[in-house]
Amino acid sequence: MAYSYEAPVSQSLFDRASVVTPGGVNSPVRAFRAVGGTPRFMVSGTGPYLTDADGREYVDLVCSWGPMILGHSHPEVIAAVQEAVSRGTSFGTPGEGEVALAEEIVARIEPVEQVRLVSSGTEATMSAIRLARGFTGRAKVVKFAGCYHGHVDALLAAAGSGVATFGLPDTPGVTGATAGDTVVLPYNDLDAVRAAFAAHPGEIACVITEASPGNMGVVPPADGFNAGLKELCAANGALYISDEVMTGFRTSKAGWYGVDGVRPDLMTFGKVMGGGFPAAAFGGRGDVMAHLAPAGPVYQAGTLSGNPVATAAGLAQLRLLDDAAYAKIDAVSAELRSLVGEALTKEGVAHTVSAASNMFSVFFTDQPVRDYDDAKKQDVFRFTAFFHAMLEQGVYLPPSAFESWFVSTAHDERAVERIAAALPAAARTASEATA
Ligand code: PLP
Repeated sequence: MAYSYEAPVSQSLFDRASVVTPGGVNSPVRAFRAVGGTPRFMVSGTGPYLTDADGREYVDLVCSWGPMILGHSHPEVIAAVQEAVSRGTSFGTPGEGEVALAEEIVARIEPVEQVRLVSSGTEATMSAIRLARGFTGRAKVVKFAGCYHGHVDALLAAAGSGVATFGLPDTPGVTGATAGDTVVLPYNDLDAVRAAFAAHPGEIACVITEASPGNMGVVPPADGFNAGLKELCAANGALYISDEVMTGFRTSKAGWYGVDGVRPDLMTFGKVMGGGFPAAAFGGRGDVMAHLAPAGPVYQAGTLSGNPVATAAGLAQLRLLDDAAYAKIDAVSAELRSLVGEALTKEGVAHTVSAASNMFSVFFTDQPVRDYDDAKKQDVFRFTAFFHAMLEQGVYLPPSAFESWFVSTAHDERAVERIAAALPAAARTASEATA
């Protein structure tokens, strides 16, 4: 499909980038391959707005894929970063900032007795499954199709068939041996989990799940699903790992744990807790965490782990996230969900607005979406048309039909009005789109 509007400066930057960087980007989804067109190179962000290299302003509904929950360039976060950076950027020693951030996480999330800081969500999940394997002395990991846990080799496996089976490598470079220890199951299917434990007695180290998935679009756990996972893990001597990299400190003060109260053995965090810097974490039961080096035998380390600038940004952001902040984000999310739903209904576009707390996405189908197979049945071509019509009118959505939309405390009435003004034309474009 050709798009009528142009972004010459972004295009020339993308051309330059494509010479020196594979596909022109440092993380694949940024490349707009799922929707076509030129990825926008952003130069600045303020509150709910981003400005691209062509000088065009957008209302941002990506929020850096979750971290920017206070909007861009929040003055108190920026001040904390400036203060930290004025004292140096990395010491390779312990420092008070990382203690304070760990204390804040432990105080907010009751099942976390101890926490280890790392630099990305990928590192957090990779380390958590290594620890689970070291703690249990077992090799196999259960994950769910459509759940993304970063680009950890063992977690990139996703079976297409929707039955309990050994995972096949999803990408060249992940060996069959690595993927062979990963059992991929359909999401929201406790019977499949029961069957996997029965098929592999004494072999499963852990079940890892997104606390509430946002990486196949937003597909919340069915009632009792997370509690059932916890119960099955406990009954079979496996650890229950809740990946809260996306939901953590976003869906409530205590993340998704604050919503469903199911107590994981281990949890992983990232995004919001870094305030826009590379900071992430994994933590949980004290007796399990005690197996980590140097306290225990399971090795895990990082040159920049607990970096003073990143921890200052994360701490400043978390301290601003009080009940009032979450109430505001929840309200903006609810308002946008109903505006999007109304606009699509008016144009007769089959859709489902799916929400988990303030995270939401739109599936272009009116059929229920409970797992990845359901999500894939939507009319992706309608999303593509909708995405470009919104972009053209200055609203930046995630460039994929399988991603959560994110809002922030900075999304005020003016930002919502700009989105509302763009919706009718985008909904019409979606209704007129052809496969
Ligand atoms: N886990 C979840 C649930 C995520 O959404 C992501 C990233 O989107 C990750 C893990 C990986 O985090 P990172 O991109 O920081 O490595």
